[in-house]
Amino acid sequence: MKVKAPGRVNIIGEHTDYNDGYVLPFAINRYVEVEIEDSEFYRFYSETLNECIELRELHKTGTWVDYIIGVIFSFENRGYKIPPISVKINSNLPIGGGLSSSAALEVATAFAISKKFGFDIPNFEMVNVAREAEMNFVGVKCGIMDQFVSIYSRKDFAIFLDTKTLDFKYIPLRLMGYEMYIINSKVKHELSFSEYNVRKEECEKILAVLGKRSFRELKRSDLNLLSGFLKKRAQHVIEENERVLSAVEQLIKGNFKKLGELLYESHESLRYLYEVSCDETDFIVEYLKAKEGILGARMIGGGFGGSVLVLAEVDRFGTIINSLIENYYEKFGIELEYYKIESSDGVSIL
Ligand code: ADP
Ligand code: MG
Repeated sequence: MKVKAPGRVNIIGEHTDYNDGYVLPFAINRYVEVEIEDSEFYRFYSETLNECIELRELHKTGTWVDYIIGVIFSFENRGYKIPPISVKINSNLPIGGGLSSSAALEVATAFAISKKFGFDIPNFEMVNVAREAEMNFVGVKCGIMDQFVSIYSRKDFAIFLDTKTLDFKYIPLRLMGYEMYIINSKVKHELSFSEYNVRKEECEKILAVLGKRSFRELKRSDLNLLSGFLKKRAQHVIEENERVLSAVEQLIKGNFKKLGELLYESHESLRYLYEVSCDETDFIVEYLKAKEGILGARMIGGGFGGSVLVLAEVDRFGTIINSLIENYYEKFGIELEYYKIESSDGVSIL
């Protein structure tokens, strides 16, 4: 049984997903493929990493295999029995680049297992099977967006998802005359993990100070009751949610110029209000901002490195990226990577 599941980008709505906010992701045309066969013992092979791990019994390994074992345990926690299997992985989705290879791996594994053994589990429950693997077994406190998108996406649509209610809507993503790219800064600063948790705590503190249960109850006027960095964090979340709503409108109208401006605004806000960007991604965004033919750009993901999403007019990016690669190398001594991205359907059986 062979299954492929896509990675994703989130057009806008950064650090809103754990604050009951809105996000606007779509699956991209890069995938993790998982093939499952019967086996006498557990055998996990990643062609991407060129690594094979064999186990007689399942336990936490502290390696990439935990994402797969976590999925097996998610099924077993629901009463399903899974005999030993051989799992083979192949992927053209960059690992750790903010395109959510981890969720793609979980989703592909979950669907391959479920199809092979004939489990009848609805898609919304498969989101949980995949997510629990990462959240409970691997131990990353991830939101629900990544697994959701990898399952529910449709080519030529973005998903406007309300992370509070899980209501969602498909928004047409017709990039006529425009293109999207991902530039990987190739840095991931130490801060990224600890500061992510600090931001979460700060957001809880904001709710405590204001006596609210959810960020969705916050109004702009509540900002007057806050000060210092808490005020800045709250302002980011409130305005980022507004930007998502506006981005949905712009996509529907086909107003890519305005959509681009929202990307730049989001980056500014992540840089100065939420304070999760870094010199490298700031450099990339600033460089692009000065170029004609680029409509917008912003850091994506948790921050302190990772990737930048770019919205460009068709045929303008090629020369700009070459000079950016040179300038970035001169300044940071690092060779940038970039990918053109297109939307994709969600998980599929091959
Ligand atoms: P992201 O999800 O942004 O790519 P994460 O750190 O959340 O980054 O997940 C990356 C992890 O997922 C890797 O360290 C590895 O454990 C696992 N992974 C992803 N793709 C593969 C693959 N092709 N082969 C083996 N492990 C993979
Ligand atoms: Mg991940």
